[in-house]
Amino acid sequence: MASNQRYSALQWAVFALLVSVGLVAAKMVAFFLTGSSAILSDALESLVNIVTSGFALFAVWLSAQPRDREHPYGHGKIEYLSAGIEGILVIVAGIVIMAVSGWRILNPPELHSLGLGAALTLISAVISGAVGAYLMKVGRVLESPSLEADGVHLRSDAVTSLGATLGVFLVFITDIVVIDAIVAGLLAIWLLWEGFGVVRRAVGGILDEASPDLLNEIAEVLEEVREEGWTAPHHAKVHRLGQTIHIDLHMVFPRYWTIEETHEASVIMERAIRRRFGAKAELMVHMEACRPQGCASCDMSECPLRESEFSGRDAWTGERIALSVRHK
Ligand SMILES: [Zn+2]
Ligand SMILES: [Zn+2]
Ligand SMILES: [Zn+2]
Ligand SMILES: [Zn+2]
Repeated sequence: MASNQRYSALQWAVFALLVSVGLVAAKMVAFFLTGSSAILSDALESLVNIVTSGFALFAVWLSAQPRDREHPYGHGKIEYLSAGIEGILVIVAGIVIMAVSGWRILNPPELHSLGLGAALTLISAVISGAVGAYLMKVGRVLESPSLEADGVHLRSDAVTSLGATLGVFLVFITDIVVIDAIVAGLLAIWLLWEGFGVVRRAVGGILDEASPDLLNEIAEVLEEVREEGWTAPHHAKVHRLGQTIHIDLHMVFPRYWTIEETHEASVIMERAIRRRFGAKAELMVHMEACRPQGCASCDMSECPLRESEFSGRDAWTGERIALSVRHK
C-alpha cells in the first residue's frame, strides 16, 4: 500500500471532488441530449455530492485542528454537521426527483438519443464504481473516515447510474417512455432512504447517542488493565468527537488511598484508552471512595477496613460501566 501513502487524505479528497465534477458534467450532457428524467435524477445526486464533498473537505480540515480556548473539546463535531447537511441535500434531491417523475408519468415527454445517453451513464457508473472502491481502500489505509465515506458515496453513485442506464436502455428497446419516469421515481425512493440514513447517523453523533458496542469495547479495554482495588465502574458517558472520543467514568477506589495513588490508576486507564482509540482520545475518571457495601466485590488483598469476605470480582461489561449507580 506504499503507493497510496505518497498522497495525503486531503489530496485524495481533492481527487474525489474532481472526479465528481467530471461525472456531473458527463451526466448533464447526457440529460440535455436525451431529456431522460432517470438521467436527471442521477445527475442531481452527483451534483449534491459535489457540494457536500466540498464541505466535507472543509470539515476534515477543521476537525483535524487541535483544541483551542474557544473549543475545548476540539472541532470534531463539525463532521456530523457536514454529514447532516449532506443527508438533507440528498433528501431534497429525492423530493425534487419524486415530483418531476410524478409529473412525467402523467405527461410523458419525448426522449432522444437514448443509445448515446445509456452509453454515457454506463461509463459514469463504471468510473464512479472503480474510483469509489479504490478510495474506500485508501481511506482505510490512511485511517480517514471522511475519505472512506467519499468512496462509499461514489460507489453508491454507481448504483444510481446503473439504474438510470437500465431505465434508458429499456425505453430504447421497448419504446415505452413512461418506464423512464418510473425508474426515476424508484431512484428517488433510494435517495430518500439513503438521505434519511445519513441524517440519522449525523444526529446520533451530535446527540452523543449511546453505542452498546463502543461501551463494550471501552469496558474490555479497562478490564485488560484492571488492577487490585479498582471497583464498580459506573456512569460511563461517551462524547463522540468526529475522529475521536471523550469518555467520562466514575470509579470506586479504597477510601484510604492517597490522591496520588488514585490518580496513578486513572492515568493507567487513560493510557489504555489512548492505545485503543488513538492519541487524541480522553478518559476523565471521577474518583469515589469505597463503602462497606462494596467489600464483597472488592479484591483488595490486604484491606485494613474490610467488613465482609471477598466473593468475586464483577465482570466489566458495557452494561456494567453504564449503570447509573455503583451497585445494582
Ligand atoms: Zn476553535
Ligand atoms: Zn458515581
Ligand atoms: Zn491527571
Ligand atoms: Zn475494602
